[in-house]
Amino acid sequence: MEKALEFYKKQRRKILMFKYLDFVVSWDMETDAAENSIMADSEQVAVMSEMSYQLVTDPDFEQAVAVLYSNRDRLDSVMRHEIEVTYKNISDTKKIPQDEYTAYSELTSKAYPVYVKAKTENNFELFRPYLEKIVDFCRKQTKWLATDDLQGYDVLLDMYEPHYNQAKYDKFFDALRTRLVPFVKQATAKPYVAPKWAVQPFEEDKQKEFCEYLRDVMCFDKSRGIMKLSEHPFTSGFGTDDVRITNHYYANKFDSSVFSAIHETGHALYEQQCDKALNGTLSYGGASLGLHESQSRFYENVIGRSRAFWTVHYPKLQQTFARQLKGVSLDEFLKHINNVQRSFVRTEADELTYPLHVMLRYEIEKKVISGELEVKDLPKYWNEKFTEYFGITPKSDTEGVLQDVHWAYGNFGYFPTYALGSAIASQLYHYMSKDFNVEQSLQSGTTAQVNEWLKEHVHKYGSSKYPDEILRLATGEDFNPDYYIDYLIDKYSK
Ligand code: ZN
Repeated sequence: MEKALEFYKKQRRKILMFKYLDFVVSWDMETDAAENSIMADSEQVAVMSEMSYQLVTDPDFEQAVAVLYSNRDRLDSVMRHEIEVTYKNISDTKKIPQDEYTAYSELTSKAYPVYVKAKTENNFELFRPYLEKIVDFCRKQTKWLATDDLQGYDVLLDMYEPHYNQAKYDKFFDALRTRLVPFVKQATAKPYVAPKWAVQPFEEDKQKEFCEYLRDVMCFDKSRGIMKLSEHPFTSGFGTDDVRITNHYYANKFDSSVFSAIHETGHALYEQQCDKALNGTLSYGGASLGLHESQSRFYENVIGRSRAFWTVHYPKLQQTFARQLKGVSLDEFLKHINNVQRSFVRTEADELTYPLHVMLRYEIEKKVISGELEVKDLPKYWNEKFTEYFGITPKSDTEGVLQDVHWAYGNFGYFPTYALGSAIASQLYHYMSKDFNVEQSLQSGTTAQVNEWLKEHVHKYGSSKYPDEILRLATGEDFNPDYYIDYLIDKYSK
């Protein structure tokens, strides 16, 4: 076993080197590389992925992992978890027939441009044959990867959020359907009209300046992280000491950059606050998509849209945009940043209606993967369900079934993690509030006490444990959607 461990660690150094290269190249492509740069298709990137693939499929590496897996009780807890995850990844990869996998990779790379065209031209039929083949593969995948515990759609869900299956998600979305759908209809009955002050131009350089200020408020360590521009805001990290955030500034939507800055800095804090000892292992960074999103949404919604937060920071915003916010009271500002309305597009939805957009996708995916719903019937089914939940009907497939790119990439099972994150944020908030007065702590001018609690209860573990395990350690209970629905109904009843 000692020999296997030594070999494993040696190989892991190389694997991490390729992960680092990938991190830097992807970042460059999204931020600095010239628009027509062909880096993604370049020979260099092809060689890089080929070499990194060889490392993880190296028979000696597989052998070392197998030895360590059968001796996992003798490993320390971090290494044990890492070996369990790596072992599962290797055996899952081997269960997929090589020729099917190659054909599928080609299919998804061809599907993407077709999807973009179909969305632009509002033509679902164009994309349909590709989506049918993608669904066909995903259905087969659930058979290849099935285990005693995981079958059908659960196989796919587990790939994005380990240990979260239909039983858990059904409980969550059933509660949303019963309690939130009627509430949303009532809360959004009157259409929201943005006040004039909110839709005038806000200078982009000043938006940037204010976002810098917010990162200081959130104690983002600038010596271990940077911020740049990109088309869509995102965060990526490699260990605790290289964490990178992007943002995008729109003159007539100042709140978009402000809340993106808070959201992405939330992701970044998770990365920066992992235990440094995890750097150099495969357990660095956040534990899962859902848990990562719980952190960004915690800062964005629970903290960033609260009265307590803006009581301290609104004067600074008002000073930055003296002309635009002249005479706009804190109450008016809060009302605007917490407005709710019925809308067709998930990525533009507010905090209250957002989870219903995700619920719709979850229900559709469940039916599609089980074979109960066929791709050709998707647009009709989407619009019917959408009308049932929101009381409005999409006028085109572009703002309906074609709005998200995920299915073109074959990412069935991904969507639920978006809503799960918000729900976990509320559960954490409930328990954090038992330990200290969160609102009062914000009067200090920073989120330091909040950061400290999240570091101690969530961040420090990195991905050295499963996300459900971390949630149990942090809150003493399993995932419980009630906190979230209570939070939403309470907040938007006022
Ligand atoms: Zn996010």
